[in-house]
Amino acid sequence: MFDDLRDLYQEVIFDHNRNPRNFHVMEDADRKVEGFNPLCGDRLTLFLKLDGDKITDASFQGSGCAISTASVSLMTEIVKGKTESEAEDLFQKFHQMTTGKEEEVNLEAIGKLAVLAGVREYPARVKCATLAWHTLDAALKNEQESISTE
Ligand code: ZN
Repeated sequence: MFDDLRDLYQEVIFDHNRNPRNFHVMEDADRKVEGFNPLCGDRLTLFLKLDGDKITDASFQGSGCAISTASVSLMTEIVKGKTESEAEDLFQKFHQMTTGKEEEVNLEAIGKLAVLAGVREYPARVKCATLAWHTLDAALKNEQESISTE
């Protein structure tokens, strides 16, 4: 990766950590799931509003490290307006990207999420980046009220 691209990616992560998007409680949420990454101490509560199989709104609350906060902030932006299957597809691509199989992933297809590709060089931080997505997965499947990465 070129250094200037890396700098840009870091800027996006810092920006989302400083000013998280969709950072509020959603009183009329259709789904509410808590996610916890004990390895780092990241905690978040994800709220979703659904219309049929479409995610019409997403927000979160919680506290975590810069990676986990930027990841969930980016995710809530990106999944709005997506169908459940489109969101699941993004989750699969994101998971492949962060676990080191980037060559199998079209980075353009995941858009802004590519800023988090660098975490695969830091295995301890992968769970920080994927916590938001595991929580989304549980919320969409409506299976659990809380999930843990351990
Ligand atoms: Zn973390």
